[in-house]
Amino acid sequence: ARERFGGQLVLVTGAASGIGKATALAFAEAGARVVAVDRDAAGAEETAKLARQTGAPEAWPETADVSDGPAMEALAAGTLDRYGVPDVVVNNAGIGLAGSFLDTTPEDWKQVLDVNLWGVIHGCRLYGRQLVDRGEGGHIVNTASAAAFLPSRALPAYSTSKAAVLMLSECLRAELAPHGIGVSAICPGLVNTAITGSARHAGVSDQEQERRRAKSARLYRLRNYPPEKVARAVVRAVLRDTAVVPVTSEARGARLLSR
Ligand code: NAD
Repeated sequence: ARERFGGQLVLVTGAASGIGKATALAFAEAGARVVAVDRDAAGAEETAKLARQTGAPEAWPETADVSDGPAMEALAAGTLDRYGVPDVVVNNAGIGLAGSFLDTTPEDWKQVLDVNLWGVIHGCRLYGRQLVDRGEGGHIVNTASAAAFLPSRALPAYSTSKAAVLMLSECLRAELAPHGIGVSAICPGLVNTAITGSARHAGVSDQEQERRRAKSARLYRLRNYPPEKVARAVVRAVLRDTAVVPVTSEARGARLLSR
């Protein structure tokens, strides 16, 4: 495993926590130089430090809000300047939003689409352009979700954002294939991360909000699927150039049912 990504530069968004953090460290272990991007500056710093301890010859933190277009342009220009073109870009930052369609306000929709969809659009546009201009191949990974495959009344806005990420990834894959650039969509089921603690539940009181967060945190802990296993699937998706990667048994089931 070690050195499979020796000499390569890997940029991961949402790298301060959960799947993004585990992914940054998995690439570090495989010898990559790592750029850990998050809106949580201290968390990105910590992941970069751990990446160096894990085997990355170099690792740097970058602070950016992926939903902010100008901030992402500054990030892409800055990383190009400081580190060069990333060989692998993992657009992973995302937020949760639960609640029925009728309870979901336009503000809720905007927030989840701004982060989960626009964050990926910005990352793909800006780094896709850098990869094409460089002309030496590369790979883009986008974190979608099992929710992208299956309609549910519990997660209408989140699922819509992830279905869009899945379609965007498959379209971009077709466009970038002639350039030797791969695109993968990772679709995890329930993974034990901090996302349950920050996800919004639309249409409920603050008190109920806390109760639902605690309830879903318990469910995710019960499943206990570690983000490190998703990270290994991301590394494999890059090595094998896999288009769509359902991770966890419920994600594989959802994928099969959706066809
Ligand atoms: P997490 O909350 O542990 O980590 C998400 C990270 O993204 C955090 O560090 C957070 O600061 C960062 N982030 C959020 N919004 C951002 C923004 N606007 N700009 C920059 N950084 C931002 O959650 P996670 O479970 O590791 O989620 C990672 C991805 O995996 C998300 O896209 C999520 O939708 C997806 N996903 C998670 C699960 C799951 O069960 N945990 C399942 C399927 C898909």
